[in-house]
Amino acid sequence: MKKKRYAQQKTRRGLNAETDKSHGGENHQHQDTIVVDDDATKTSKGGRARGTNTNNASLPTAKKPKGKCGTCKSASCAGGKKCPYQEEFGKPPTPDATEEVNEGASVAVVDIEFNEENDVCTVNEVGACARSYTNGTWKKETEEFKEVTKEKLGWWGLKNCKGLNEERKKSNQDFREVSEKLVRYIKKHKIKYLLAHGVVSSDARVMVKAGWAMGIDVIREWKEAGIKGVIDTMRIIPQHNIKALRHLDGKSVLSNGVLFKRASEGATMEARGLQEHRALDDSKATAEWVTGLPEVADVMFGRPRKPTAISIAALGAYYAQVRKHKEFLEGRLDA
Ligand SMILES: [Zn+2]
Repeated sequence: MKKKRYAQQKTRRGLNAETDKSHGGENHQHQDTIVVDDDATKTSKGGRARGTNTNNASLPTAKKPKGKCGTCKSASCAGGKKCPYQEEFGKPPTPDATEEVNEGASVAVVDIEFNEENDVCTVNEVGACARSYTNGTWKKETEEFKEVTKEKLGWWGLKNCKGLNEERKKSNQDFREVSEKLVRYIKKHKIKYLLAHGVVSSDARVMVKAGWAMGIDVIREWKEAGIKGVIDTMRIIPQHNIKALRHLDGKSVLSNGVLFKRASEGATMEARGLQEHRALDDSKATAEWVTGLPEVADVMFGRPRKPTAISIAALGAYYAQVRKHKEFLEGRLDA
């Protein structure tokens, strides 16, 4: 199986093969697409990409609360704004892109390989390559970023990330060191934005969470290094309704692999010498279609220029609130 839903694959890394109930049936029908709830693009509803929601996956089924209020899970609560806990502990809406990106700004396309199990995020590999756009042309930065941690791979990574396990055995660094190196790369190349297909729900979220576990405030470090925000192509495609990059049903966003093929005249990543599910090569594949298909530059730098970046402050506030909401819920479940 070559073509699969990219985001769902990432999500599945956190699940055991046995408990991965989503792996079958209708899930295998539209394998070229990622289904994104249209509400995910509206600030008022705060829906999220179906294929990337791992929050519930980390809760054991038996403990899953049945209450009707989304915040306090109490059956007697009317929910929404009527919930007394909503303001302080409510689940936040996923932030929209509100910032315009300047021409010439250095954008690092990032990708990670990771494992998420029992609510613990382990980063196995981080890859990045930088691009900038000036006067109608995308330019490549020459230096690429690729670091592998010594952490063990999950079943998904062992199965799919060719060569990564051999490299991780030779590695003696953890995510703290890789994160520091990424910050140095950001500073050296004056990177202003991090871009990934699903960066909010996947790459940035996992790095932030892995950082929390090690006492690192990844968002603050990125901000201090000069990062202004993140560009999530999976979210700006529906937000600005870029029809050419959506599935015909209007509800889904094409996957990284399909978008790459669009930009490469049908050639697969493999045919172009890129190893799927290795962080740097996946980031290069994303960079290939982001810079190769005119639609992305059009929305980012065309006239009128549209907001395509989520500010680093909004992203940090979002993850912090997600964490607060989750800890609140866990506290209630333990009580
Ligand atoms: Zn409530």
